[in-house]
Amino acid sequence: MTTSFHPPVRTLMGPGPSDVSPRVLAAMARPTIGHLDPEFIRMMDEVKAMLKTFFKTDNELTMPISAPGSAGMEACFVNLIEPGDKVIVCQNGVFGGRMKENVVRFGGECILVEDEWGTAISVEKVKAAFAAHDNIKALAFVHAETSTGVRSDAKALCKIAQDNNALSIVDAVTSLGGVELDVDGWGIDAIYSGTQKCLSCPPGISPVSFSDKAVDVVKNRKTPVPSWFLDTNLVMGYWGGGGKRAYHHTAPVNSLYALHESLVMLEEEGLENAWARHQKHHLALRAGLEAMGIGFLVDEADRLPQLNSVYIPEGVDDAAVRAALLKNYNLEIGAGLGALAGKVWRIGLMGSAATQRNVMLCLDALENTLADMNAPINTGVAAQAAAAVFSE
Ligand SMILES: *Cc1c(COP(=O)(O)O)cnc(C)c1O
Repeated sequence: MTTSFHPPVRTLMGPGPSDVSPRVLAAMARPTIGHLDPEFIRMMDEVKAMLKTFFKTDNELTMPISAPGSAGMEACFVNLIEPGDKVIVCQNGVFGGRMKENVVRFGGECILVEDEWGTAISVEKVKAAFAAHDNIKALAFVHAETSTGVRSDAKALCKIAQDNNALSIVDAVTSLGGVELDVDGWGIDAIYSGTQKCLSCPPGISPVSFSDKAVDVVKNRKTPVPSWFLDTNLVMGYWGGGGKRAYHHTAPVNSLYALHESLVMLEEEGLENAWARHQKHHLALRAGLEAMGIGFLVDEADRLPQLNSVYIPEGVDDAAVRAALLKNYNLEIGAGLGALAGKVWRIGLMGSAATQRNVMLCLDALENTLADMNAPINTGVAAQAAAAVFSE
């Protein structure tokens, strides 16, 4: 007979999912109630209000899509892009490529602005792309490229979109809760995030927000939104304000308890304090890794504290190290993607995973594992270097 599944207890320091706090897991185990129950609707309103706070927006259309970050991405493109629309898409990693795919699949014309993987999106190239084309409907880019650990200048990029009368569509799956993000201040028109990165919830929910301008664009479409499930006009019948909630789909009740709890925890900590915590732990991890002789892929100014792409030391077997970390330390770190496969590791410090204990565990586990393999690293210095940052 098949028996119950009991997962091993891991420490998740990869590109997501990140460690989920016991408080969030406990919230998920609470009794399921009806998705139109007045108590559930009260909780939904709190989720919406907290999402607005953390996105820093007054957008009425702010809600969690009942599916992972990829569905939030699709919700933005399927609602805003019609056949023939011209969209400038920036690609400096895996996720920009997915934006391009969305534009093309919904019949849009994609103007691709490419930058090296591991570098930020070039503001100058985006300006040049706007200068070279007219009637651009939207600019789409990834704020925090999880595939490389790069943060791009979302504020400057959104300003270019505004100056050219175009919408901005922003991927904030890894940035929300980890680094500065200001939807209204930066004039972002459509944004999507995910629960499984810096919000430290189980995967499967995608908070999104549309500006009033974006909502108008959806309302004035020439063609119907080609997705029934993701059509914001319909979903808002359920998530929209007021006492009247129409059945659209059955919300993932317990997953939303989890999201609610994680947002409550973020409120308790304070958004700016959470950004500072990610930065502090990144600095400590960096000090330890650099003491060991391990370097970073990304220029310091463009680094994401929550996703550290570091070079694999010369002659080291990438997969063997990650397998040993998992087996001996229950520690997960991420592999490189695409051209960076085998060249870098991606060490996540996302949400609840950004703790001193995790930084020290990761340094200790890496040092022991690499030393066992006779890798060219400095031993006996990493822990002290990281500890020095924590005691500052
Ligand atoms: C993880 C991630 C996604 C996709 O989110 P899923 O929850 O895996 O669907 C999209 N964009 C970025 C930048 C991500 O890191």
